[in-house]
Amino acid sequence: MVTEVDHHDICIIGAGVIGLAVAHKITAHSAFKNKTVVLLEQHRQFGQETSSRNSEVIHAGIYYPAGSLKASMCVSGREQLYHYCETHQVPFRKTGKLIIAGKSQEQALHKIYQQALANGVKNLESISARQIKRKEPLIQADYALFSPESGIVNSHAYMQSLLHQAEKAGLIFAPLTRALMIERHANGFLVESQCQDSVYQFTCSQLVNAAGLNAQEVATKICAFPESEIPTQALVKGSYFTLQGKSPFHHLIYPVPEKNLKGLGIHVTLDMAGQVKFGPDTEALTTIDYSIDPGKEEKFRKAIAQYYPAISEHILQPAYSGIRPKLISKNGAADFVIQNGKAFAYDGLVQLFGIESPGLTASLAIGDAVTEILCQ
Ligand SMILES: Cc1cc2nc3c(=O)[nH]c(=O)nc-3n(C[C@H](O)[C@H](O)[C@H](O)COP(=O)(O)OP(=O)(O)OC[C@H]3O[C@@H](n4cnc5c(N)ncnc54)[C@H](O)[C@@H]3O)c2cc1C
Repeated sequence: MVTEVDHHDICIIGAGVIGLAVAHKITAHSAFKNKTVVLLEQHRQFGQETSSRNSEVIHAGIYYPAGSLKASMCVSGREQLYHYCETHQVPFRKTGKLIIAGKSQEQALHKIYQQALANGVKNLESISARQIKRKEPLIQADYALFSPESGIVNSHAYMQSLLHQAEKAGLIFAPLTRALMIERHANGFLVESQCQDSVYQFTCSQLVNAAGLNAQEVATKICAFPESEIPTQALVKGSYFTLQGKSPFHHLIYPVPEKNLKGLGIHVTLDMAGQVKFGPDTEALTTIDYSIDPGKEEKFRKAIAQYYPAISEHILQPAYSGIRPKLISKNGAADFVIQNGKAFAYDGLVQLFGIESPGLTASLAIGDAVTEILCQ
């Protein structure tokens, strides 16, 4: 007996900012006008994992290696994101950002400046200690780069808006639905999913794996997908502490980044409500664990005191943490991987691995790249 199952043209797994940006781009594209698109999310709500556990910074695209997807998609994604926020009433602010350095870091700062130019970042300014004091009187630094293109966004409002736009264009959003197994099928793929207490099977012609930290696990559930093509992932937690009271700062303030771009250093970010957050730090994990160790406060104070000595007068409180899906690379910072399954005879499959920072900034550019592959 043959059982009939539902068919959707495209299935996206994961409603973080990337799955949502992909859903928005696909449903807005003329090539998919009469196609059915379903977005599966294991949680009750969209954006409950990395997409709501980050700094909410719209990055300019300064640090990433020239020619990398991170560099190009950060620059093009940032321009699109500002435009999107303006046209869809998503709260954002071009705060500008200072990358500050001490006397011994002048060379390192110069290197960052050159990197930014190579990446096509515009309007970056090298400023003196006096100019730093004028912008941020309480900050202690000898040199700085000022990036006027950097800003902040209300990431929840952004994701809500992407979902709204996609649903208006016909997207079927399926929360509380976890993709379990994927098999090859005459129609493309057969997806078995757990929807609360029942198992729901359907077929789709094209499949996008945007499962964030779980992308590798989902890939292993795709029947016979070559394991050697699944990049190895390391989990790197970043914790944040908040400052009680009114913000003493007007800009985002970053120290010179850590080696190999493991993290950007414990920096100052502001949110749309004007709250100051410090972080994220870097901590290797073996399993997902979002708890915050209050014992880290001393380490945070020490790092912050290097550029903001008055931290000793403030109360710091543990806030939240996020986990970076870092890909292992022998040559330092690994790039985003946007994998077209066609290369392995899995036509119609697109998998996204290692979408760490600047994934929020680059989300619309990533949405375009995935849409382009699905159009081929
Ligand atoms: C500490 C930190 C700070 C950051 N700061 C910034 C920043 O300031 N600016 C910036 O541009 N970027 C930043 N980023 C990066 C940015 O947050 C990520 O690139 C982005 O959120 C990744 O989104 P995603 O959709 O890929 O992943 P996620 O948000 O994790 O979404 C994946 C979704 O898939 C769902 N899922 C998983 N498995 C299944 C399954 N089997 N079935 C159904 N659903 C499933 C999950 O529940 C989740 O909702 C930061 C990241 C971290 C960790």
